[in-house]
Amino acid sequence: MVEVVLEARGLRCGYDGREVVAGVDVALRRGEFLGLIGPNGSGKTTLLRALAGRLVATAGEVLLDGAAMRSLRRRDVARALAVVPQLSSPPFEFTVGEIVAMGRTPHLGRLQPEGPDDRAAIDLAMALTNVGPLAERPVTELSGGEFQRVVIARALAQEAPVMLLDEPAAHLDIGHQVEIFDLLLRLNREEQRSILCVSHDLNLAARYCDRLIAMTDGRVCAEGSPAEVLTEERVSQLYGCAVRIEPGPGGRPNVSPLSAALDAAPAGDAR
Ligand code: ADP
Repeated sequence: MVEVVLEARGLRCGYDGREVVAGVDVALRRGEFLGLIGPNGSGKTTLLRALAGRLVATAGEVLLDGAAMRSLRRRDVARALAVVPQLSSPPFEFTVGEIVAMGRTPHLGRLQPEGPDDRAAIDLAMALTNVGPLAERPVTELSGGEFQRVVIARALAQEAPVMLLDEPAAHLDIGHQVEIFDLLLRLNREEQRSILCVSHDLNLAARYCDRLIAMTDGRVCAEGSPAEVLTEERVSQLYGCAVRIEPGPGGRPNVSPLSAALDAAPAGDAR
């Protein structure tokens, strides 16, 4: 039987009385790498925040390991679920080592110093993300790709079996995008993390994810394998842009946007 680790049922939520997520059912299965796609403003980040217990549902519910999110203590949620928010400016003054160590907060009592288990989790997180050599550097001096690895390391130090990531490769060049997704794949396959990842990059999502969920206007409009979800008709409709989809590396769908200016045959051109 497929085991579900995180689930939204009939979930509705939003901001200041404005509904953004308008009745969503989604399930993250244990051990899967699930991608969440959809155009800007479709509610992906808002759904992620609700799944992380950071935004209260106005209707429906979120279940973490079968327990209602609203009945769980923050600390218990943080031990089960780690969040990597969209890349933001690094907070000033902290070193890489200090940021990664913050991932241990849910495991420590008030004023309790780090113990050997905490140190081991921090060291492993830094090794997996290859940020050890940066440990003493202030995070303000890192490149975008380095900082993203540090934020993922902090989430790993949390030792939560579920990871939610919001566009972890946004703003990174293709080399660093692949580096981040390879890291996530390794965490998924070798470190048994269940991953839900918002991605604007359809080709990365298609390449790495086991399954995709597509959202539009606060609702799920499709879910299935990358090939099932990424059809030319659906992607064109969702993003308002003609696309060509062909098999890419690994046989996964590869999406190329078509330009109205460059690719369309001129109307009435009889030559
Ligand atoms: P996506 O991640 O798909 O781009 P979001 O969940 O960020 O979508 O946003 C969905 C809608 O919710 C947008 O209209 C956005 O303006 C609104 N929204 C997002 N965050 C907030 C917020 N903190 N306060 C008020 N409205 C918000």
